[in-house]
Amino acid sequence: ESLTKKFFEEKKRSELRLKDKALTATVENAIDRRTRLLLFKFLSAGILDSIFGCVSTGKEANVYSSVAGCNFLENLEVPPNMLPSVYQQDCKDRVLALKVFKTVALSFRDRDRYIDGDIRFKNGYRKGSSRDMVILWTEKEFRNLRRLAKVGLPVPFPYYLKKNVIIMEFIGRNHQTAPLLKDVVLPSNEWLQLYLQVCRMMRIMYRDANLVHADLSEYNLMYYESKLFVIDVSQAVENDHPSMGYFLYRDCKNVCIFFKSRVEEDAVSAKVATERKN
Ligand code: ADP
Ligand code: MN
Repeated sequence: ESLTKKFFEEKKRSELRLKDKALTATVENAIDRRTRLLLFKFLSAGILDSIFGCVSTGKEANVYSSVAGCNFLENLEVPPNMLPSVYQQDCKDRVLALKVFKTVALSFRDRDRYIDGDIRFKNGYRKGSSRDMVILWTEKEFRNLRRLAKVGLPVPFPYYLKKNVIIMEFIGRNHQTAPLLKDVVLPSNEWLQLYLQVCRMMRIMYRDANLVHADLSEYNLMYYESKLFVIDVSQAVENDHPSMGYFLYRDCKNVCIFFKSRVEEDAVSAKVATERKN
C-alpha cells in the first residue's frame, strides 16, 4: 500500500513539474491563454491557414510568419482601393507577418510619454490595466501603419487588427525575413542612395501623414528588393505632440550617426586597401 502511495505521490510531483514547465514556456513565449485562443480563432475561421515559427522575439512583441487562409480576404476591412494590387486577387497561401504584442511581464512606464499629449488617445486610455494598454498600443501601431500606407510610404501593409494582434504583409521571401538596415552589406556608393531614401521617407511621414516615427533607426528599417520599409510604428506620434521636436531630432540623429558610421567604415576599408596595394 505504501508503494502505491509513493507511486501516486511521485506521479503528482512530476505532474506539477510538468505544469510548471508548461507555464514557464508560456511566459517565455509571452503567448497568454487569451492570445492563444485568439490565434486558434484565426485558424478556425480560415483567416489564417497556419502559423509558423517565431521570426523575432522582442521586449514588447513577438513576430511570427503565417499563411493566409481561404477566408482571409472576406474578413478584411480594407477599402478595395487601398489594398496593394498584388493582394487584390488570390490572397490565399500568402505569407503574412503576425505581430503579437506581449501582455505579460512588460514595463509600460515609458509608453506614457508617447500616449500622453496624443489627442487620439484622450479618451479610452486607462492607466492601470496592462492588457487594455497593450491593446491600445496595438491599435496605435495598426492605425499608424494604415496612415503611412495611405500616403504611399513603404510599410508592411496592415490587414487585420484584433485585440493585441496585427496581421500584416510579410517583408521577405519564403518565411525568411528581409534583413534590417543594420545588417545590410552594400558597396559604398550605394549608401548615399539609401540615406536619401530615409530622408525622403521621413519627410513624407511628417508632411503627408503628420507623424514622427520616434524610434527610427537601423533596427526599425527593413531592406527588401533595394527598398527600405519602415516598421515598428506603435510609438509614432502626431506632429503636434508636445515632444514631437525632441523625437524628430532624435530620429534624425540616429539616422545620421548610422549612415556616417557606414560611410566611414567604407572610407577606412578603402584606405586599408590602397595602403596594402602600395
Ligand atoms: P519590436 O522591435 O517591438 O520587437 P518590430 O515591429 O520591430 O517589433 O519587429 C521585430 C522584428 O520582427 C523586426 O526586427 C523584423 O525582423 C521582424 N518583422 C517585423 N515586422 C515584419 C514584417 N512585416 N515582415 C517580416 N518581418 C517582420
Ligand atoms: Mn523594432
